[in-house]
Amino acid sequence: MPVEKTAEAGAAGPAQKKSRRRKPKAERPAESPPPARKPAEGPATEARRQARIQPARPILKRFGEMVLSEPMLAALSEAGYEAPTPVQAGLIPKALEGRDLMGQAQTGTGKTAAFAIPLLEKLTDKPRQRDPSALVLVPTRELAVQVRDEFAKLIGKRKLNAVAVYGGKPIRGQIEHLRQGAEIAVGTPGRVLDLIDRRALNLGAIEHVVLDEADRMLDIGFRPDIEKILRRCPQSRQTLLLSATIPPPVKRLAERYMHEPEMLDFSPKDVAVETIEQFYFTVDPQRKFDLLTRLIEREQPRQAIVFCRTKRGTDRVGARLARRLNSAAVIHGDLPQKLRDRVMADFRAGKVRYLVATDVVGRGIDVTSISHIINFDIPEFCDDYVHRVGRTGRMGREGVAYTFVSPEEGNELTRIEMRINRLLQRDEIAGFDAIARPEPIEAATAEPAQTAQTAKPKPVFGRRTRRIRRAL
Ligand code: AMP
Repeated sequence: MPVEKTAEAGAAGPAQKKSRRRKPKAERPAESPPPARKPAEGPATEARRQARIQPARPILKRFGEMVLSEPMLAALSEAGYEAPTPVQAGLIPKALEGRDLMGQAQTGTGKTAAFAIPLLEKLTDKPRQRDPSALVLVPTRELAVQVRDEFAKLIGKRKLNAVAVYGGKPIRGQIEHLRQGAEIAVGTPGRVLDLIDRRALNLGAIEHVVLDEADRMLDIGFRPDIEKILRRCPQSRQTLLLSATIPPPVKRLAERYMHEPEMLDFSPKDVAVETIEQFYFTVDPQRKFDLLTRLIEREQPRQAIVFCRTKRGTDRVGARLARRLNSAAVIHGDLPQKLRDRVMADFRAGKVRYLVATDVVGRGIDVTSISHIINFDIPEFCDDYVHRVGRTGRMGREGVAYTFVSPEEGNELTRIEMRINRLLQRDEIAGFDAIARPEPIEAATAEPAQTAQTAKPKPVFGRRTRRIRRAL
């Protein structure tokens, strides 16, 4: 739910925000405790933050060097896309040849345009017909809207239509859009099947199918729906599959429903994009919210997503955050679609600065100005970590991700580190005890008393975990 500004939120008005900004080292009073990490390693200062916002990645070649039509080049120039991203440079020419392709690519790499451009090129000179020629299946409603919007941008002045069909919105409007004629249908598998059953969507003329974020669609349990849909599409179609990861279920789907697909790997060597700095905090569960507010004070994110595991947890954190800060909102699958759309529009427009989200909904978010990802709850699955962190560092910009780890969650952290083949750096906030220290023991006890200063914090990692961490 979008969370209202409260009287307390006023305390975080622009003037106060400015004064809370972490001062550069030289300005800090001499008596203030030194930060736990050297500032040079920390992502906190404004200068560093600015320096991290780099333009998009190196250019491979210009779109003009690809064999693309005039209307497409015009639409690309109108969209401000000067050069293809690596995924686009690799995928577009092969997709134009008409073959089946499996591309391992994360969101934020320009993968939508990588399949939209060749599809639109194929559809441009086709005589108009009522039924769609291209079908794009996506895991979430948000992604359906985003992909439809990307198509709309790249269609430019051509007479082509892309329609988004997804649950949570009245089906009637979507049926009407399809009736008016759409060359491209972008939808979630459940709604697509529903429309087929109502005879509002006919797949008989489909020539191109895209399975976008295939791993996520299978995670959510869409496999039976996807298979039903694919069986209804003509066998002669071209199938493109995009996925951040290619686990065995995705491979099996490809083997079954694709024709000798070529595999193209655009995944960065580090699974989590290398421009993203990644840190963790060890924290007692009951101190997480305090840590969150201290971290936000220190970092002053341009825009941040705070990920929680559960919908209820998301509501709780969002409500507490809104009592302290301006412009916090919540998004998760239980909220009405209209509200989700509004929250997303506000987040895109920068009116919402802090978005508290669950994995399923947060996954499709593509907003280039997200500077920080905060994993308030460590993700349950390693792939979710990769996807959460991938919300920042979009289009080659740099970003930073923080993960809160409670003393019992050391193994989970290790699993993530093994998955991304990289160690997260430990962070601390000066003067803030994220782990409650044991109380001093009374002098009368036989054992020498441990004071708060001498008491060792509870180890975060077990012996086995430490061994795994060393072995990495
Ligand atoms: P995606 O990976 O498809 O989610 O794309 C991430 C963002 O990059 C979207 O906002 C696109 O509009 C944008 N984008 C895609 N291709 C290019 C390009 N060649 N140049 C600049 N921006 C792009």
